[in-house]
Amino acid sequence: MAKIGINIATGSLQKEEMIVGIDLGTTNSLVAIIHPENRQPVALKEHNSSSLVPSIVHFDKTGNITVGEEAKQYLVTEPHNTIFSAKRLMGKSYNDIKDNASFFTFKVIDDNTESLVKVQVGDKFYSPIDLSSFILKELKQRAEHILKTPVTKAVITVPAYFNDAQRQATRDAGKLAGLDVLRIINEPTAASLAYGLGLGKEEIKTIAVYDLGGGTFDISILQITNGIFEVLSTNGDTYLGGDDFDRLIVHYWMKQSGISETEISANKELSQALRLKAEEAKKYLSSNENFEAKVENISLKLSKQEFESLAAPLIERTIQSCRNAIADAKVDVQQIDSVVMVGGSTRVPAVKKAVSDFFGSPVNDTVNPDEVVALGAAVQADILAGNNKEFLLLDITPLSLGIETMGGLMDVLIPRNSKIPTKAGRQYTTHKDGQSSMRITVFQGERDLVQDNRKLAELNLSGIPGMPAGLPKVEVSFLINADGILVVKAKELRSGVEQSVEVKPQYGLSDMEVEKMLLDSLTHAKDDIAKRALVEARTEGEQLLQTTEKFIGKNASLLTQHELIQTAEAMQALQLALTMEDKDLIHKKVEELNDISRPYAERAMDQAVSSAMKGRAI
Ligand code: AMP
Repeated sequence: MAKIGINIATGSLQKEEMIVGIDLGTTNSLVAIIHPENRQPVALKEHNSSSLVPSIVHFDKTGNITVGEEAKQYLVTEPHNTIFSAKRLMGKSYNDIKDNASFFTFKVIDDNTESLVKVQVGDKFYSPIDLSSFILKELKQRAEHILKTPVTKAVITVPAYFNDAQRQATRDAGKLAGLDVLRIINEPTAASLAYGLGLGKEEIKTIAVYDLGGGTFDISILQITNGIFEVLSTNGDTYLGGDDFDRLIVHYWMKQSGISETEISANKELSQALRLKAEEAKKYLSSNENFEAKVENISLKLSKQEFESLAAPLIERTIQSCRNAIADAKVDVQQIDSVVMVGGSTRVPAVKKAVSDFFGSPVNDTVNPDEVVALGAAVQADILAGNNKEFLLLDITPLSLGIETMGGLMDVLIPRNSKIPTKAGRQYTTHKDGQSSMRITVFQGERDLVQDNRKLAELNLSGIPGMPAGLPKVEVSFLINADGILVVKAKELRSGVEQSVEVKPQYGLSDMEVEKMLLDSLTHAKDDIAKRALVEARTEGEQLLQTTEKFIGKNASLLTQHELIQTAEAMQALQLALTMEDKDLIHKKVEELNDISRPYAERAMDQAVSSAMKGRAI
């Protein structure tokens, strides 16, 4: 039963506000709720229409904005002011997308290649956040129209590989659309939740969620234990989906009909018309053998077999991702109890076959693959509303997170594949006397030297009271909240000064870059270990030089002339060793200096102890 409340100010009856689940897709978006009566998730739709709203935004000459089916009508006739696949641009710079720039028929600004992309329509510029907010606003209005109640709270899904910046961008789009985004969750996680509804029993299951949508591909390996969902690993490709199948078909037809690249780039209308026909052909071939049509008197033909051989390399790429995900999850294919299919492109029979061949079992596709993510988001929304306390969600971080320490080394606080939400903390200290500030630089990646990783943020902890080196205790803590957003805090424990930063990196990493970073860490592993050892040896050497110098400055009177000379020589030898790339030599010189200083350091210590004893009142 829906709860009813009374608005004290107006005296009117109010239905308790519903939290909706939103799948903000590359191709289509939709809203779902848990039906208040039967408690089942349902996708919202107007009578006689689809629940799917094409993620397309059209701008007319007077600045009017339309979204969805209506906007889709303009893809062919007004390609410059009809924006599709905006999600592919979320949190990206022009550099990130330049290899795929020809895919967009509208103007993606390319003058500042490092900053976040914008789309130009007429004389106006729109960010992907703006564009997504238009889609979300439309979804909100539709939901309000259907539910006859205001909708202000939502759970929105994103691909598993979205990084912090992209998640934040999605959250911002929601805010712009007038939505309070309670949670951002991974699409595969949402999908598994939609299927997980039936899994209340005490059982342990490992499942794979294969999500091939219009523009993105995700594979997740999940473990469900007594109603708790845990994501063991994720893998995927944000540049692989049904749109790519369409593109392959278009190229195939261009070749067949002798249409050149120059011709197609000069004729955007033809390019769009071919794209739409290609999608139609692909869908048709999911249940038929041959497709035939005409566009601008060009005859277009495609058989199922031809389509399957075009698509085979793309499908194989998804299977390779499945292999990687299985390896990361440290499970065997045989341990996967069921495989869940998500996304419209999983309707392609060749996809289903490849996936079921790989996992060695029939795939599970009982829930509508276009709706399953939104339905799962609605389940999560229901959990947040406090209606379903049996489930707990755990996600993982795709790359390690840490800070830069002495010598440019990466000190990992949260290792890759850690479950989130998560928290980690470690204490650091100053290395100079009277140091009043400390710069904390946050990096993401698997390499030992920060210069090879990706800088995410920087914070400067200032106001540390003057203390000798090594005395301040600076606690650096990392907190990744359930949305995957990282908050870094630094606090000097003796004085209480603190500083924090929420990580919103300037632009995002594509999954390909994540993959590259992981691969690089493997290829450079040996190299990195050697570099780390050298940096550590140098840091140790430098610190020893500093402390020795300081010690001599204070206690020169305790040392014999011979000791002073010996020490100076050993310090000089160590200094020289530090300029060379030889960690063993540095270690040797460190040892030698230690051997020389040990006797007088002990003498100094004894004296300090005895004078301390003398001063003690009994
Ligand atoms: P999604 O992002 O999940 O909405 O997926 C949409 C993608 O699924 C688009 O690329 C569609 O062309 C594709 N799709 C939808 N229905 C079918 C079908 N029957 N056969 C093949 N692909 C389909």
